[in-house]
Amino acid sequence: MSGEVFSLPGAATSASAIKLYARETAGFAERLAKTVELLQEAALDHGTGLLQSSSLGAEDMVITDLIARHKLPISIATLDTGRLHAETLALLPQIEARYGLKVAVYSPVNDAVVTFVRVRGADAMYESLDLRKECCAIRKLEPLSRMLEGHTAWITGLRREQSSNRAVVPFSETDNNGRTKINALADWSWADVWHYIAIFDVPFNALHDQFMPSIGCAPCTRAISVGEDFRSGRWWWEESSAKECGLHATRQNSEEEKTGASA
Ligand code: SF4
Repeated sequence: MSGEVFSLPGAATSASAIKLYARETAGFAERLAKTVELLQEAALDHGTGLLQSSSLGAEDMVITDLIARHKLPISIATLDTGRLHAETLALLPQIEARYGLKVAVYSPVNDAVVTFVRVRGADAMYESLDLRKECCAIRKLEPLSRMLEGHTAWITGLRREQSSNRAVVPFSETDNNGRTKINALADWSWADVWHYIAIFDVPFNALHDQFMPSIGCAPCTRAISVGEDFRSGRWWWEESSAKECGLHATRQNSEEEKTGASA
């Protein structure tokens, strides 16, 4: 995998993510300018058809900050799978208080969740890849499809550096439903993301200070340790090639991801 390797201090259970990761590296100003330009162009091209799909992760918080900072007319939405950490959900009122922006929240169909849990169990995701994917389909993919209804384009925080599966993430692509998907931070590094968060004092998930660089649902996310890569804390019991939930399937990568949001 090509994800970044972290060096974590011995037995510590928390440490400032900003201190660990934020660094200004060559070309940051240019990458930032390119992202702003992409967002401005997308807003012009798609108008109200454009949406930020936020996982509330560090990258998405950067994009939300840019939307607010540059007063871009882009609505923001997220998925509440019903299995998120309290720390993740705590960002919703923080975003509203900080930016005056309301994040639309999409949840799974209750009957589908109740039936799945009754038949398969609350922690079925650990039993097989098929059951994990079924859980992701109910809790993520179906609400995502409702979230994107009526939209022509969406913005994600996918970055090339996140994993080998994402090494070729373009700035713009077409998803399986013909929508334009704008990966506004495609060429940003993890250090860039945290440098931005540090200099603009962007709110972020408190779990990032507990060695969780990539945060999804609570049962499927754990802290990483010394030498592990960026997404090793996600679905850690599975092969690395399967570590996608299908939120980001596109015409180009759908075959690969069938085996496996940002999540
Ligand atoms: S990430 Fe885990 S808990 Fe969340 S929808 Fe997928 S399998 Fe279910």
